[in-house]
Amino acid sequence: GLETRGVSAWFGDHKVLERVSLSMAPGSVTALIGPSGCGKSTYLRILNRMHEMVRGAALAGEVLLGGQDVYDPAARPADVRKRIGMVFQKPNPFPAMTVYENVASGLRLAGIKGVDKDEVVEDALRRAGLWNEVQGRLRSPGGALSGGQQQRLCIARSLAVSPDVLLMDEPCSALDPTSTRRIEETIAQLEQQVTIVIVTHNMQQAARVSRHCAFFLAGEDQPGRVVEAGPTEQIFEHPVDPRTADYVHGRF
Ligand code: ATP
Ligand code: MG
Repeated sequence: GLETRGVSAWFGDHKVLERVSLSMAPGSVTALIGPSGCGKSTYLRILNRMHEMVRGAALAGEVLLGGQDVYDPAARPADVRKRIGMVFQKPNPFPAMTVYENVASGLRLAGIKGVDKDEVVEDALRRAGLWNEVQGRLRSPGGALSGGQQQRLCIARSLAVSPDVLLMDEPCSALDPTSTRRIEETIAQLEQQVTIVIVTHNMQQAARVSRHCAFFLAGEDQPGRVVEAGPTEQIFEHPVDPRTADYVHGRF
């Protein structure tokens, strides 16, 4: 699994996260919820070591993947990112590259050789729930697909390197309801195989796709922290903190 212990984060002098300790079990979907600016995207970038690429960014605490320190200076960041894929709000396939090459590009970037590329590409597209729609269009440019298909193409590109973890930062906020449904179906299919962490502003979506939920909140001049975390049903039906109840019921 993936775990953080007492993670705090800064951009320069600005502290944006305060001692976040969360544990994400293997083969489960965890939803990160909370108002804009509370540090959800920052937290995702901390998980796959992208945070250290941001100028002026600092970090305290521990991030562990399968018990190993993600920030171990001896571990290469590229190796970490091979094990932890990420999908963003705006689908970002290489638009001029073919569908096939988009998926295969993950292999090249990760330095994976000696595999049957056709097999890996088909398998990744199947797992992303896109194979049936694109098997006759593998030579079309990625940019020619619909927005929802492009997002599933990005998921396939991440899956091609067989990551342990898939991070998704508001993967459906740029998509229509039908495409959103398809992504949610894909997440449900992947749940057993990959540890998924998804940031979403859509409470119905969090309730539908996740098994565990963490509610982040920042105060005026206060860094974001986890107010409450637990099984999704508990967070939605029996939250302990009144602020959690207010948030999940859309009262702020
Ligand atoms: P949203 O729901 O709007 O996406 P979020 O919960 O993802 O918000 P973050 O984007 O993680 O929030 O931002 C948390 C805080 O960190 C905010 O105060 C933001 O202004 C600040 N921040 C984020 N990225 C940077 C950066 N590169 N440099 C400086 N400050 C940043
Ligand atoms: Mg964000």
